[in-house]
Amino acid sequence: MEDVWDLVVVGGGPAGSAAALRAKQLRPQARVLLLDKADFPRDKACGDGIAAHGRDELALLGVPDLIADYRPARRLSIVSPGGARVHAAVARPNHVVPRAVFDARLVDAARERGVEVRRHRVRALAARDGHVVVDDAVTARAVVAADGANSTVRRLVGVRSFPARHTAIAVRGYADVPVEDDVQLIAMQRDGWPAYAWSFPVGDGSANVGFGMLLPRLRATGLPGREVLHGRLAELLPHLPARDLRAHHLPLSPGRAEPGLGRVMLAGDAAGFVNPLTGEGIYYALLSGRLAGEAAVQAADDPLAAYRRGLGRALGRHLRTTDVLARAAQRPGFVDAAIDTAARRPEVFDLLVEVGLGAGTVPLPLACAVVRRWLVNGLRGGRILGLLP
Ligand SMILES: Cc1cc2nc3c(=O)[nH]c(=O)nc-3n(C[C@H](O)[C@H](O)[C@H](O)COP(=O)(O)OP(=O)(O)OC[C@H]3O[C@@H](n4cnc5c(N)ncnc54)[C@H](O)[C@@H]3O)c2cc1C
Repeated sequence: MEDVWDLVVVGGGPAGSAAALRAKQLRPQARVLLLDKADFPRDKACGDGIAAHGRDELALLGVPDLIADYRPARRLSIVSPGGARVHAAVARPNHVVPRAVFDARLVDAARERGVEVRRHRVRALAARDGHVVVDDAVTARAVVAADGANSTVRRLVGVRSFPARHTAIAVRGYADVPVEDDVQLIAMQRDGWPAYAWSFPVGDGSANVGFGMLLPRLRATGLPGREVLHGRLAELLPHLPARDLRAHHLPLSPGRAEPGLGRVMLAGDAAGFVNPLTGEGIYYALLSGRLAGEAAVQAADDPLAAYRRGLGRALGRHLRTTDVLARAAQRPGFVDAAIDTAARRPEVFDLLVEVGLGAGTVPLPLACAVVRRWLVNGLRGGRILGLLP
């Protein structure tokens, strides 16, 4: 058997690379092994949208310029399920970077920092003498499971799988757009709500386009998933015929996470850190990976407890907020009101971006403003609480 690794990371997406990068950043002499079943570069079904908060994480990980050669996306346009619209500049720009590029750059950065990267599909895990033994061959003081939405490690350690009501499914492809198109578009759909299509221009004459919806709503159609997803994408963005279509599940945060067991910490999609309002997960993957890497080398006695505390501080209130809002947003009228209010009040627009793409929470006065608008819209339409016929 090989020597003991301080940290074995399973999965080289943003969560895994962040964990490996952070561990080596804090303790350069630490022995860190990154295992992924794929060779990089590899594709990943994703909208490729990297929030400004994700760039903050890259800076914390010591790779601030990793995507600096990609054009910043400064404008965001949202159409609500009922047709309310907001088009505005975001306070801090987002980026759109194909995952084949982004993830490979992160893995390269980890390798440069001294992380050993191996192609290997993890199939088995065992606790032995205060260590974790991976596939009966590799021994680790701590493991970060960053193996994505279908996490094998999550299943192996016995953490519950994601319930269908907290699972979305989305398809993405690429379409040709004018090079100067720099508006990130989100077009929501009332039919089968919550559901939306997006177009995220990369800046090179292509845009990542896609469509996503909740799994139970997809099943309720009784139609093949491919037919629904591809059909709705074409219906919502008829001017942007897509190629290279690829779909995947998204484990939406239910408000609180089960971040692991024993010496195994779950990060990113493996922990279910996807924003239930937007499907954004890269920022959470980077953040949770960083915190898990930190815990592995700074709290070697009980890394999971340290990780849990770190997550609570960084995301606790935010995850509870998105959970409450996701429940309210089950009613399309609430989202119409939020978008309508955002179109009138820039601070509400900024807040929606913070909550949807970052770690924001909602101050009471702004929540009240949205609810007021919801009531007014509902009364106009005579639909609230059955008060009007
Ligand atoms: C269609 C779609 C659009 C999306 N759009 C966006 C968006 O625009 N912006 C955004 O922020 N988020 C978006 N998301 C969510 C985002 O893609 C995920 O949240 C993010 O990829 C999570 O990163 P991760 O590192 O946790 O997992 P992943 O990126 O899935 O990486 C997991 C890695 O683990 C490896 N692996 C899996 N099993 C094993 C195993 N047994 N052994 C070894 N390695 C293994 C895989 O090869 C993979 O490299 C989207 C998701 C989908 C499906």
